[in-house]
Amino acid sequence: MDCIFCKIAAGHIPSVKIYEDENVLAFLDIGPLSEGHTLIIPKKHYAKVDECPAEMMSQVGAVLPKVAKAVFGGMESEGYNVLCNNGRASGQLVEHIHFHIIPRNAGDGVFTQWPAKQYPAGKIEEIAKKIRAKL
Ligand code: 5GP
Ligand code: ZN
Repeated sequence: MDCIFCKIAAGHIPSVKIYEDENVLAFLDIGPLSEGHTLIIPKKHYAKVDECPAEMMSQVGAVLPKVAKAVFGGMESEGYNVLCNNGRASGQLVEHIHFHIIPRNAGDGVFTQWPAKQYPAGKIEEIAKKIRAKL
């Protein structure tokens, strides 16, 4: 499979590693939105969160707080975003699950828009019904 993150996980392409265990790898993003921008991945290839077995996601989830704390602490940032793009429409370019940990400081201009909308009356329940039906 021609997947850049599989190649990084296998050590065939170099990366600047932050954390590694049998199942999970965290390394610095090569195109950082801010200094210390880190990616955390399951070593096994899954494209999107909804395709990932719960056990594998648990392994990533178990490591995430520790890595987030180190990124946040090491960079002495005021906050951080944990972000996971799923699918091209969401901005996912590398189709191997990865969580971005992005150190943030007030006024850093990293994300300048959060285009929140409002539901018209009754719509929120209609939407919830559609989603619950797929659980
Ligand atoms: P996406 O848009 O898929 O959520 O984000 C992919 C991320 O992977 C981008 O932030 C990009 O900079 C990073 N990236 C892509 N190729 C490489 C690589 O070869 N090495 C590292 N360290 N990061 C990469
Ligand atoms: Zn992969």
